[in-house]
Amino acid sequence: MEQDFVCPTCGNLWSQAADRYGLFGGYGIPPCPVCGDSGHNADDYGDFTCSYCDHSWRNYGNGGLVLGRWPSCPKCGTLAEDN
Ligand SMILES: [Zn+2]
Ligand SMILES: [Zn+2]
Repeated sequence: MEQDFVCPTCGNLWSQAADRYGLFGGYGIPPCPVCGDSGHNADDYGDFTCSYCDHSWRNYGNGGLVLGRWPSCPKCGTLAEDN
């Protein structure tokens, strides 16, 4: 079964088939085949909007959370708020 992955570093999107152990080349989540950074499950993301500068962005992994918290805005650094 193919699973879609995304690389937040270079934006690469790819699909990879799991082996019989449910792993992808030995990884639970495989590294990006283009740049080698760690990939993310393409279905695991959160969309955020900055309350300060109105910038909208998508963050991958853990439903978009960073260490269980909302991520800070990649543009101005303001911590996103759940409101
Ligand atoms: Zn990449
Ligand atoms: Zn912002």
